[in-house]
Amino acid sequence: MYPSPVVKTSPAAPAPVRPVADVRRVRRLAAQFRALRDAVAALPDAVVLLDDACRILWLNPAAGTLLGLTRPEHLYTDLCQQLGDSAIGPWLRTGGDAPLDDVPAPHDAQVRLALSLIPVGARQRLLLARDISTRARLEQMRRDFVANVSHELRTPLTVIHGYLELLDPEDVPQLAGVLGDMRGQSKRMAQIVEDLLTLSRLETQSGFSEEPVAMAPLLATLRREAEVLSQGRHRVILENESEADLLGSLKDLHSAFSNLVSNAERYTPSGGSIRIRWERLADGRGAFSVIDTGYGIPAHHISRLTERFYRVSSSRSRELGGTGLGLSIVKHALGMHQAQIQISSEPGQGSTFTALFPGERLLPARAADPGVQP
Ligand code: ADP
Repeated sequence: MYPSPVVKTSPAAPAPVRPVADVRRVRRLAAQFRALRDAVAALPDAVVLLDDACRILWLNPAAGTLLGLTRPEHLYTDLCQQLGDSAIGPWLRTGGDAPLDDVPAPHDAQVRLALSLIPVGARQRLLLARDISTRARLEQMRRDFVANVSHELRTPLTVIHGYLELLDPEDVPQLAGVLGDMRGQSKRMAQIVEDLLTLSRLETQSGFSEEPVAMAPLLATLRREAEVLSQGRHRVILENESEADLLGSLKDLHSAFSNLVSNAERYTPSGGSIRIRWERLADGRGAFSVIDTGYGIPAHHISRLTERFYRVSSSRSRELGGTGLGLSIVKHALGMHQAQIQISSEPGQGSTFTALFPGERLLPARAADPGVQP
């Protein structure tokens, strides 16, 4: 018998044996990761992960319905480029710092979206898009309803007001008081309707024709208006500290500023002062302020003052001829100019309302042009 040949084999390297606890942990993590991925995939909101070059790294199915993006076609493509000059493209390209509300979806203008961009680590960003079409439709219905009702009320009110003006209280002395009340109330109603129409116009207009607004004549007009309203009850001071004019809508800026001035006049008792101030701040922004020494506003009311019909004291506002809509108009008119309103107040001491305009809206002052006077 021949001995069977001896085949020399090198011993196989032993497979690394993971401790059981490690294997369990890896399985648990994988299961958690799948659950998380499935949850994000099931979200009705679009979720898109972008790298620092705006390339799509990951997206969920809702990104298809809301943004028209699908896998695998759009993976690793440049989203900023694809969105081009749509409402979302420029926002995304410039960093999307502030959320974007109520814009048409890129592939279907009937769908309205709210978007936000969240930094993830140092190099990635998460784009979130939510379908707000229902909310936008309801909001549109509300706007249309208010505008239509105001339009419908305008004509009958003008007729009633006209007839009341024709009646002479001396002809019916016993009704003189009643007539005075009726005139006062019809005037108030007409003012509410006018303010509602102004608000509707500001809310619905998407853009406006911008013009250089000469501040010196506008400030002079505001001072004159304040003096007429005040009828000598207040000291009106004008401080024009800036050589700058504004780029914007003369009509809407005048409306916003004169609302602030008439509020200061209304809520400052006789003997107080109203200071109208225009200045360029150190950071380049323009600040228009109305500073009064009036009743002031308790701190907890301040954040709500620009809501429609919000008043600190309803009886005082009505008695003084307020409509409760002035600061809403101010907020909208300033918003169109990317300006913000700042309010500071001390009850019993007075209030300061400041409209802050971005530096890009400031222009070197021109020689006064009588054509642009309000
Ligand atoms: P109104 O027509 O009632 O004045 P606004 O929207 O202009 O409505 O202002 C809302 C509320 O803010 C006012 O009712 C008043 O209570 C308060 N307010 C506005 N401006 C001033 C001010 N300069 N001083 C004190 N309170 C003010």
